[in-house]
Amino acid sequence: VSDLLCVACGRTSRTAAVYPPRCVCGGLWSAADPSLYAIRSADVGAPTPLWPDPVDRDLLWKREDLNRTGSFKDRGADTLAAVALRAGATRLVVDSSGSAALAAASAAARAGLPVTVHTPGDLPPAKRHALEMMGAGVVAEGDRAAAAARAAEAAAREFHFSHVAHPAFFEGTGRSAIEALEQCDGRPPGTWLVPVGNGSLFLGIAHALDRLECRSVRLIAVQASACPGLRSPGTGRSTRATGIAIADPPRRSEILAALARQGGDVIEVSEEEIESAHGALGRRGVAAERASAAALAGVRALRSTGEGDSILAWLTGSGLRG
Ligand SMILES: [Zn+2]
Repeated sequence: VSDLLCVACGRTSRTAAVYPPRCVCGGLWSAADPSLYAIRSADVGAPTPLWPDPVDRDLLWKREDLNRTGSFKDRGADTLAAVALRAGATRLVVDSSGSAALAAASAAARAGLPVTVHTPGDLPPAKRHALEMMGAGVVAEGDRAAAAARAAEAAAREFHFSHVAHPAFFEGTGRSAIEALEQCDGRPPGTWLVPVGNGSLFLGIAHALDRLECRSVRLIAVQASACPGLRSPGTGRSTRATGIAIADPPRRSEILAALARQGGDVIEVSEEEIESAHGALGRRGVAAERASAAALAGVRALRSTGEGDSILAWLTGSGLRG
């Protein structure tokens, strides 16, 4: 069964123990039939809470920072690991030094699959320790591009455990949207706000809304103005919100199409606004990563324009991971 559908040319392919990271035309894969990526409920992590913001009474947070490794990426990694196992994969490979690496190591351990994580040489010792204690092999050398090149080379022989390349990841992250709808008893806030880097959470949410034909939700993508990958790809400088520091998102056109479908928009927030929101979350008792603080900065920007709608925002990851 062909489960992979090229977003650019419509060719199809199949996930096996090794799969082509892209179509021969260079296009990225989408899910030909998302039901093929359904996983056993035993492989799905515990639901995360909806948390009413103690300051803004019309703001709810989806607490994805409370997943196992402190990030929404656990959901995508669990789904991708189940799909890899079914496809006959015997070894996984990934390049990341951030939340994707921790999520991959945890999901691989749960699935009983060995994983090699390629990271830059400056991997902090605490992160290496966390990865290795979950059983991952760690190769820490060179810069980020070198780590990516090593993983791409290994993907010719091993399952490429990439949250950008494989569409099963979005099926997992989209579950947080379905869960949120259930938690709101089908009466969700009208505006949903999601920090966007590569868009692996945003696209999962957008696909879930699409499939439910839920057009009443306005989706808003929040980015750092220092790294405006959606509006001005390739122009990004550095942002302290490293979780959304993607200068040229490979799935940019898919993200923009989803924004158009849901009547949404992009909000960009400054480094100062992110720092201020980061402190404000801390004073609410939440140690969030800065990408999540960008979400609060986005909420504040919306409110400053007189926006009175109730808002659901994604707290994407914990700041306790170093
Ligand atoms: Zn193609």
